[in-house]
Amino acid sequence: MKKKIVAGVLMLVLLSACNRAAPSGPVAIQTELNYLGTVISISLYDEAPASVLEDAFDAVADVHARMSVHEASSEIASLNRDGFLGNASPDTLALIEMGRSVSEASGGAFDITVGVLTGLWDIGGEHPNVPEPAKIVRALGVTGYKHLDADAASATVRFAEQGMAADLGAIAKGYACDEAARILREAGVQHAMLDFGGNIYALGEYPDGSPWRIGLRTPLIGEEAAYMGILSVRDKAVVTSGAYERFFEQDGKTYHHILDPHSGYPADSGLLSVTVVCENSAMADALSTACFVLGTQEGLKLIRSWDGVEGIFITEEKEVFITDGLHTAFSLKDQRFKVVSTP
Ligand code: AMP
Ligand code: MG
Repeated sequence: MKKKIVAGVLMLVLLSACNRAAPSGPVAIQTELNYLGTVISISLYDEAPASVLEDAFDAVADVHARMSVHEASSEIASLNRDGFLGNASPDTLALIEMGRSVSEASGGAFDITVGVLTGLWDIGGEHPNVPEPAKIVRALGVTGYKHLDADAASATVRFAEQGMAADLGAIAKGYACDEAARILREAGVQHAMLDFGGNIYALGEYPDGSPWRIGLRTPLIGEEAAYMGILSVRDKAVVTSGAYERFFEQDGKTYHHILDPHSGYPADSGLLSVTVVCENSAMADALSTACFVLGTQEGLKLIRSWDGVEGIFITEEKEVFITDGLHTAFSLKDQRFKVVSTP
């Protein structure tokens, strides 16, 4: 059944409303729990017909229906069952293509063909577990973006190897957010905040003309409600990949949901989280996952190689690395963390 909470309260909205002589709070908020495995909330700061929010959520539902690996009738589930997908929708093809470009740029740290691995670990699912090493080795044998062919001309997607599986979990939320933002803009909305389970899209600016102020969550387990800094942005996607987002514990050890496609185990690159800021939320989503796997040095290199993309890396030592374009936009609030000059 569809659950709907009409009046949700977001930390980021509170930040926006509390820290200045606010002209107004949001005019309307809609929160949904049914899509892409996360809580999705859109706050409008303009008067707009109620149908605008409905239209935005219809677009999210459509992305979920076509791209969720957990939806038996989705294009991705169908590809994983048959090893082939005909009549692929243009945006699924485009997203797979975007995924491939980030895979290539990151040397395979980002790889949507981790589907067999993510299925084995089932982190965030009903039976999370540390798989037997032999199973991980087998899964690695059917992981590799180079064995996934997407052809826009024939609208087909196919795996070159048997037994492969795709998982768009690291990019589809970002894409759904882009779609929702597009629909709001087309309807004339100028001020809105979209929160797709930590994937933020700050549309336009705050109604008084100042930037949106977004609280960056403290990336420590058990500190869900805390934020360690504030980022001021206009018209930007702000997407975080963090070890705290989905994890389980076994024998006193914590295992999180971002896997290193080279080892088959949760990435262990010394990072607690990576936040990527750019105009395109799908791209920010893919790059934040890629950077989390790559670690600080390689991740910073990747971000800097991409035009219009900025990032904030937080290490296990609580050091914060910020790319040049964000230095004035970020302000540290939690003094346990330390901003260090970027290498
Ligand atoms: P995110 O939270 O955006 O960093 O994405 C993590 C999700 O993407 C996981 O829950 C998996 O479904 C999937 N995933 C895990 N590791 C990778 C990876 N290295 N490349 C692409 N997708 C991944
Ligand atoms: Mg991601």
